[in-house]
Amino acid sequence: MTDESWLKTASMAEEAVRLTERLVSIRSYPGEELTVQQFVAKWFTEHGLIPEFQATNDNRPNVLVRVENGPGPTLLLNGHVDTVLAVKGWSSDPWSCRREEDRLYGLGACDMKSGIAAGMLATRALSRSRDCWQGTVVFSSVVDEEAYSIGARALIASGLEADACVVLESNWARPCLGCFGKMLIRTKITGKAAHASWPDQGINAAVEAARFAAALGEIPLGQHPSMVASLCLLSFNSGSSQYVVTVPETATMLINRHHVPGETEQSVLDDMRSVVHGLNSPASFEFSIEPPYYPPWQTPVTHPFVHDFCEAYAEEAGHGPEFSYGGFGDANLFAGEAGIPTVQFGPHGGNFHQANEWTSIPSIGATVRVLLRLAFRVLPANEVSARA
Ligand SMILES: [Zn+2]
Repeated sequence: MTDESWLKTASMAEEAVRLTERLVSIRSYPGEELTVQQFVAKWFTEHGLIPEFQATNDNRPNVLVRVENGPGPTLLLNGHVDTVLAVKGWSSDPWSCRREEDRLYGLGACDMKSGIAAGMLATRALSRSRDCWQGTVVFSSVVDEEAYSIGARALIASGLEADACVVLESNWARPCLGCFGKMLIRTKITGKAAHASWPDQGINAAVEAARFAAALGEIPLGQHPSMVASLCLLSFNSGSSQYVVTVPETATMLINRHHVPGETEQSVLDDMRSVVHGLNSPASFEFSIEPPYYPPWQTPVTHPFVHDFCEAYAEEAGHGPEFSYGGFGDANLFAGEAGIPTVQFGPHGGNFHQANEWTSIPSIGATVRVLLRLAFRVLPANEVSARA
């Protein structure tokens, strides 16, 4: 079934390097992804495939390529083209890849333009080897993953259906099978204003909020064998920014909460309300969840897709993968919201969101090969119906 020589051709390291370098050279902070998406679309057109722009908002399209090859399941290969902002400390131009031994240094090198390159090369290779598989491959490069994930959300809202998904984050050493969810909780505390010379006549929202802040440690957190739930107070505001002799009437707190499978938005807010109840506070507390919201996700190791992935990975690496859990992002949406069995896996790299981010050159081609072997397993060629 597998044409080894073709696999080797598909993994040509130099082409993977050139493509990654081109992608890195086009600055694509969240909000300015259009130019790099035009490059991705043009590359596919030049290689005989038909890209499609999918609107999200503000001229920030996703790019989709569908390779249809008879009836069968659909495999989604997804990556994001936006990068975080360049920080201080780079020893070379972040947008001009520096090659040193088997590494490429550049902004987005591993997060995740090498993953995008691997997905593009794998998609082209699959379009050229239709005898080896049957079904549909969808490649998507989405926008805004480093901010609100508007790209992945638009893709899901468009009615995307897939039977399996690879999110091409740089997880070569430890492919990822799940992650905690994330919610941003705004708490509004309302007391009663009064002249500060007679504080007993008011209800001091700052004091009541502080009592709640001190009790945050009492809020129960969900337990999970491989993920950690957490809670962190991000900000606390109360009182007038201008000097006035008034008991503060309102306070707001912003809380970051990571939740694990088994916890829901409702259960998390209920746990907070029961701690507030125990405070016997005269103030009122209102909770609301603000975007971006990410549900937790987990693909069971016993899932047939994970079995196929383990085989494809082992054929390349010489041993099976050691899985990890963590690093929230678009996979939370594809798996946690859309319910698509997902593995997060891509080229090897380091210095994520730091100066001198790098990707491992050999791992880009190796990722292409794993993706091809995975596609052959997930989308097996059926001799009878393929010829029908
Ligand atoms: Zn990323």
